[in-house]
Amino acid sequence: MNNQMDIGNPTRTRAILEKYGLSAKKSLGQNFLTDPNVLVNIVDAAEVSPDDDVIEVGPGIGSLTEQIAKRAHHVLAFEIDRNLMNVLDETLSPYDNITVVNQDVLKANVNEEVEKNLDGQRRLKLVANLPYYITTPILKTFMASTLPIDKMVVMMQKEVAERLTAKPGDKEYGSLSVVVQYRMDTQIEFDVSSKVFVPRPKVDSAIVSLTPHSDWEVMPEDDKDFFKTVHGCFMHRRKNIWNNMQGLYGKNPEIKAKIQNVLDDLGVDPQIRPERLTVLDFIKLHNRIKQEGLERK
Ligand code: SAM
Repeated sequence: MNNQMDIGNPTRTRAILEKYGLSAKKSLGQNFLTDPNVLVNIVDAAEVSPDDDVIEVGPGIGSLTEQIAKRAHHVLAFEIDRNLMNVLDETLSPYDNITVVNQDVLKANVNEEVEKNLDGQRRLKLVANLPYYITTPILKTFMASTLPIDKMVVMMQKEVAERLTAKPGDKEYGSLSVVVQYRMDTQIEFDVSSKVFVPRPKVDSAIVSLTPHSDWEVMPEDDKDFFKTVHGCFMHRRKNIWNNMQGLYGKNPEIKAKIQNVLDDLGVDPQIRPERLTVLDFIKLHNRIKQEGLERK
């Protein structure tokens, strides 16, 4: 349920910003959501329930935090902007299930904060209207963390959403698609108009859900090493895999023979572009490259 007094209501948001003399900081990606329906739709997409503890990145003035808190067991929110702390103290005062930590989420010890503030008895979710300038680092941080996150539902720039959800052959499919889909099932839940933000961002937005999936039938030995192979293979999107691999490993006859072996063994046509390969293809390619002893230059 949302009502006239909710933070995300346009009139109340304006009143809060005025009262505290706040102007949104562009450098911190501050675009506040002022559409109660969109806020509720985000919480719906995340299927937040009293069985969930929710981590939020960037509560802003608390509009999404409030909607999450109405349904979740507890919300742990990380906000970098010190000037928003007393605002949040006031706007979120009706709720006793919210902890706001005044820290840069990329520098915070999130595991420690989770241990300190959550009881470890619930499912853990990440729900956020992300600061767009650090969307990818935030997602990578949470994907690489040891926190047992059950589901992430996050707002981001539409263009990034399309890359995260692209399938082989799509024009947006690239290393980010592979690296994220290696661990997560991804889906665009819905688009969000720039009109519902104060101030309006210059880009379109979308809500994406990311759900961890089970391991692939084969796995790389080292995730980071695998990601380097993927990035390397996409270095020149318009070149075929044969040329990209020569760029990565070298061109002398011995190396070329090894590359040929790898591709032949996997039945990969050297002429195809990297965007044709699935996540599983990349894992097999990486493992076979390691087996062949090819070293990145
Ligand atoms: N959740 C609010 C909403 O939906 O209206 C605000 C979302 S706004 C797009 C992004 C928020 O992230 C801002 O409040 C900003 O100050 C905060 N932020 C930016 N960089 C951050 C960082 N490194 N760590 C934590 N919060 C950050």
